[in-house]
Amino acid sequence: MKISVIGTGYVGLATATVFAELGNDVIGADIDKDKIDKLNNGIMPIFEPGLQELVERNVKEKRLRFTHNNKEVIGHGDVIFICVGTPPKDNWEVELKYVENVALEIAQNIRSYKVIVHKSTVPVETGDKVKKIIKDNIKENVDFDVVSNPEFLREGTAIEDTLEPDRIVIGADSKKAIEIMKKLYSPIKAPLIITDIRSAELIKHASNAFLATKISFINSVARICELSGADVEKVADGVGYDKRINRYFLNAGIGYGGSCFPKDSQAFVKIAEKYGYDYKLLKATNEINEDQKKHFVGMVKKALNSLNDKKIGILGLSFKPNTDDMRFAPSIYIIQELQKEGGKIKAYDPEAMEKAKTIFSDVEFGKDPYEIAKDSEVLLILTEWNEFKELDLKKIKSLMKTPLIIDGRNIYNPEDIKKEGFTYISVGREHVV
Ligand code: NAD
Repeated sequence: MKISVIGTGYVGLATATVFAELGNDVIGADIDKDKIDKLNNGIMPIFEPGLQELVERNVKEKRLRFTHNNKEVIGHGDVIFICVGTPPKDNWEVELKYVENVALEIAQNIRSYKVIVHKSTVPVETGDKVKKIIKDNIKENVDFDVVSNPEFLREGTAIEDTLEPDRIVIGADSKKAIEIMKKLYSPIKAPLIITDIRSAELIKHASNAFLATKISFINSVARICELSGADVEKVADGVGYDKRINRYFLNAGIGYGGSCFPKDSQAFVKIAEKYGYDYKLLKATNEINEDQKKHFVGMVKKALNSLNDKKIGILGLSFKPNTDDMRFAPSIYIIQELQKEGGKIKAYDPEAMEKAKTIFSDVEFGKDPYEIAKDSEVLLILTEWNEFKELDLKKIKSLMKTPLIIDGRNIYNPEDIKKEGFTYISVGREHVV
């Protein structure tokens, strides 16, 4: 099939590449000329495992190309995916202007029947809005259908998740559009949920709200563990073996970040508010998440007494491992708070340093964890990259000024690391009296 993808960020690029890999004729478009130039020169604008090889192969096989001309891309596809950003406004409502702009461009440029699919995460009823924009502005007398097909991929495993998703959600009110979408997705073996458009839109916000709530839930339990002298990892294991709960997303730490959970769970509160519902549970989820970052800064302050002029080494900046994405990464708040108290920050991340350099001032970046450890009075683990789990701890200890590790992701076994001679503080495993 001929497929168009508008917006080649994390979602659009994975979508375009995977549909090309499945044998479709795909064009990806973006208004960011720099991004398109990079893609056309074989340079990936984002870090995502497995992406580069897949893009290269499909470009070579002429199933995938990129343009910054939206008009061309709208003319090409039988199915047009809208994968543009839906960032938060200052009040956490969803900024829909990028989706609306694309809808307008589609209206002005379609010349034949198209299935127009919004993959971006949008508030319930956005499908109706998109339909109205197109209907009100369409130039030619052509038919079209709007479909909601929310995306559930995780950064770091985007390709795997797109090829083998847990489910595919298709929200549509046209049989013709449903058949086209089913045909397009037929090579992917996953449960297909066919719904009305509004339910599909809500599935996405409800899923992210639930996952965020699970994280805030275990972080609250972690706080009770700290106060009572219990171990949150053991509690999470014991709770997680219950099949009705499961262990996924029961990892205590410094809270969730990234481009989805913070904005989507805040946005869902706003969406509920518009319908007159006070979403108390999700408000608490959001508050607990903010509080967890503050609590971690408090742990650092307590351990160091004063932060003034203290050399603080940071391992991990991205909001989670295997991505270079810094959007709403907890490291941003934590580093800025430590700097306010006079802390001198040295940091390392395997992939996110380029992006981090545009966010932080007065942060010294190092080429590896050992450079960061040198003369540091504390090492803070802020992202659970695998390479931090396999450090030469003897070498780290010999380089540090004081052998103190405060672990915001609970990557070490406390017994093992204490045996190496470190003072080790982690989340939900320290008895705070
Ligand atoms: P992104 O910011 O990485 O990419 C969005 C792209 O859209 C940008 O490259 C931007 O230049 C482009 N764009 C904006 N306006 C355009 C226009 N008029 N024409 C062409 N291109 C345009 O965003 P993302 O992370 O890929 O997320 C996209 C959507 O998918 C969001 O709604 C997000 O909430 C949702 N989502 C993201 C993830 C994730 O893990 N990143 C997962 C599931 C869903």
